[in-house]
Amino acid sequence: MASVTFDHVSKQYGNVTAVNDLDLQIGDREFLVFVGPSGCGKSTSLRMLAGLEEISAGTIYIGEQAINGVEPKDRDIAMVFQSYALYPHMTVYENMAFALKLRRMDTAQIDRRVRRAAEILSMTELLQRKPKQLSGGQRQRVAVGRAIVREPKVFLFDEPLSNLDAKLRVQTRAEITKLHRDLGTTFIYVTHDQTEAMTMGTRIAVMKDGVLQQVDTPQNLYEKPVNIFVAGFMGSPSMNFFAAKVTAAEGRLHVEGNGFQLSIPDRFKEPLTGYVGQTVTLGIRPENIHDAALAPHHLQGSTLSARVDLTELMGNEVFLYLLLNDTPFVARVDPRTRARSGNTLAVTIDLTQLHFFNQETTRAIR
Ligand code: ADP
Repeated sequence: MASVTFDHVSKQYGNVTAVNDLDLQIGDREFLVFVGPSGCGKSTSLRMLAGLEEISAGTIYIGEQAINGVEPKDRDIAMVFQSYALYPHMTVYENMAFALKLRRMDTAQIDRRVRRAAEILSMTELLQRKPKQLSGGQRQRVAVGRAIVREPKVFLFDEPLSNLDAKLRVQTRAEITKLHRDLGTTFIYVTHDQTEAMTMGTRIAVMKDGVLQQVDTPQNLYEKPVNIFVAGFMGSPSMNFFAAKVTAAEGRLHVEGNGFQLSIPDRFKEPLTGYVGQTVTLGIRPENIHDAALAPHHLQGSTLSARVDLTELMGNEVFLYLLLNDTPFVARVDPRTRARSGNTLAVTIDLTQLHFFNQETTRAIR
C-alpha cells in the first residue's frame, strides 16, 4: 500500500508561506503531477514528503503511516532530481549499486537489482561506463536506475527533464510513462511545464502561490478548469480571455465586448442568467477559433472579422495572432489558411466551447 496523503500540510519560511494548507490524497500506483509556475510551492511539497524539508503544520502519510518524524532514509521513497549528481569516478554499475552497498545488502542481491534496473532502462551495455562517457539522456537514465534499484514504495521526480534538449525531453517523457506502467508504483512528479503534466499524469495538481487550485485528470482540467488561473495555465497557446457583458434579448442570452457580440447556446443559459447586466470574463481556447473559410460545416459558430497581426506556421497547424479592435488573441487554425499579416480575416468561434468566469472571484461560472 503506497498511497500518499497530504493532510492540511503547510510550510513557512519565516514569513513566506511556501505551501498553504495542502490537502491531497494520492492513490496507490497513481502518477500524480504537481504543476505550476516557478515559486508556487511544488518542490517544497515534494521535499517535505521526501524528508528534505520540515513540515510546519499538518501531517503527511505514506500508506497509513504518518511520516513527519520519520528519517528520510526510512521513508521508503526514492527521488530523481534535475541535476543527476552521479559520482564521476564510479561506473554506471557502481553508481546504481552505491546506495544498496551502504545498506549492506549482499552482493548477489545488489547484482540482481542493478541488472534488472539496467534491463528495464535498456542500458545493460552501459554498465561499465563512467558518467563522462554518457550523453545527457543516458545520465538521466542512470539517475532513474539508482532510484529503481532501491525498490521504493513511492518514486519522486523533481523536474527531471529540465536539463535535456527538446527532442530528448519528449522521448524521456514517454520512457517515464512506460516505466510507471511497468513498475506499478506510485509516481509523484513536479514540473513547471504544462505539456509534461498533461501527457504524463493520471491526475494533475495545479498550484499557485502555495495554494492547490485544482486536482483532476488532464482532460477534466482542460475542459473544466475551476478558475481563470487553471484555464490560462493549462493549454498552449493559452486560452484567450475577453471582458464581456451578459445581455438578454428575445429570450436568449448574449455576451458582448470590444468588437464582438455572441449569442450563447442554451446550455450556458442557466448559470449565466444571474449575470445579466454584469461583465464576466469570457474564455475561448485557440483551437476553438477557426478560419471561417475552413471551419467545419456542422459548427455552431459565430463569425467575426479580425485583423491578422502575425502568423506562425507549425506544420500541421497555424497559430494566428489576431486583433479584435485592439484586443489581441490567438487562434490555432487549419494550415491551409490564407491568412497573411496585415489582412483582415473572418474567424468563426465555436460557441459550444466557451468558458465563463466570474470577474471578481475568477471562478468558473457553470
Ligand atoms: P516551485 O518548486 O514551485 O518553484 P518552491 O517550492 O521551490 O517553488 O518555493 C516556494 C516558495 O518558497 C517560493 O516563494 C520560494 O522562494 C520559497 N522558498 C523555497 N525554499 C526556500 C528556503 N529555503 N528559504 C526561504 N524561502 C524558500
